[in-house]
Amino acid sequence: MTEKFTGSFTQQEPIPDEAIEAALAVLRHGRLHRYNVVEAELSETALLEQEFAALTGARYCVAVASGGYAMALALRSAGVQPGDSVLTNAFTLAPVPGAIASVGAKPVFVGVTRNLTIDLEDLVAKADQASVLLLSHMRGHVCDMDRLMEICSASGLRVIEDCAHTMGAEWNGVPSGRHGLAGCYSCQTYKHVNSGEGGLLVTDDEEFAARSIVMSGSYMLYERHLAAPGPEVFERIKYHTPNISGRMDNLRAAILRPQLRDLKQQVARWNDRYRRLEAGLRNIPGLTVIERPEMEQYVGSSIQFLLLDWQESKLLDVMRRCSERGVELKWFGAAEPSAFTSRYDSWRYANSTPMPSSDRILAGILDMRVPLTFSLDDCDLIARIIRSEVGAVYQSDA
Ligand SMILES: *Cc1c(COP(=O)(O)O)cnc(C)c1O
Repeated sequence: MTEKFTGSFTQQEPIPDEAIEAALAVLRHGRLHRYNVVEAELSETALLEQEFAALTGARYCVAVASGGYAMALALRSAGVQPGDSVLTNAFTLAPVPGAIASVGAKPVFVGVTRNLTIDLEDLVAKADQASVLLLSHMRGHVCDMDRLMEICSASGLRVIEDCAHTMGAEWNGVPSGRHGLAGCYSCQTYKHVNSGEGGLLVTDDEEFAARSIVMSGSYMLYERHLAAPGPEVFERIKYHTPNISGRMDNLRAAILRPQLRDLKQQVARWNDRYRRLEAGLRNIPGLTVIERPEMEQYVGSSIQFLLLDWQESKLLDVMRRCSERGVELKWFGAAEPSAFTSRYDSWRYANSTPMPSSDRILAGILDMRVPLTFSLDDCDLIARIIRSEVGAVYQSDA
């Protein structure tokens, strides 16, 4: 009998009842706009910011419309100007170079290692080309952040972290998003908390925070924020800071607050599933498991493995055969962008120079989502399917 997996790789869990109740309360009073409050009322959005700042240990937080907006806002607040170069990862997703392009700046791509983290040697080589690094913790892989911050401090590079896949993760006990100038998170359905769309930006820098709040669309209502600097900081910047509306609303914030309270527990559930898959993928000839460093406290909401130096036809064969058995793998090596995946050289609005050692890694990365709707038995089954199909193709003649 050939086993098949029948679950969905894109089905997340339902919104928790407590969040649904909170959403209904907002719908019933009708004050969805974050600054629409009655006397002495604290808005859901302001409370979300306060709670997320506390969760990450940041002084300031601003909630916005999307993760992509949070990154663009961070670049603007950091003073990135049209024409500037901004360093970023070659291995990431389209919203990251897109955020750089949205402020008129130019992405300069830094390579990827076989641990799927940013290539720190390549970063050293390119550090003098920009003053900001938009560091994408792509698919939740966190590089040696101590070493990265050393490199960036030595070359005057300010770091903005893209934590779309690392909300709840840490490096050496420091929450992801808290190493550099700012951290950006996404609350989109496929990330670690789900309000459909949404983003969060955290920082300890008071002027950066004030600029971000005003730019996000606060008008002169910034005193209704709870995770913001004092009015004297806004006095310094308010006449010079444009309003580029991208606020979060109270309905999304209401849905997110209970989910943040559950985050730690959800992370543990993701990691149970990740470890089952990882164990099931070990010792398969031709397949390389990504080893996770001890300093990294990851969130296993997706898993990657390498079929390094495989012929393209064989790799595609593995994907096809797995897909026929219900296991959806995504490939980062494809010449043409498809669905959510694309490669740095598909973003043709940004010049890139070929990076042969990164291309070799990208050509071997297979990627799979791990939604919490999967049971541990599902994870075992998926690993068995991958094992048998990789085995069958690996042994076959070309
Ligand atoms: C999803 C994602 C983003 C942006 O998030 P949105 O909320 O969809 O704008 C940024 N970076 C990465 C790596 C992502 O996967």
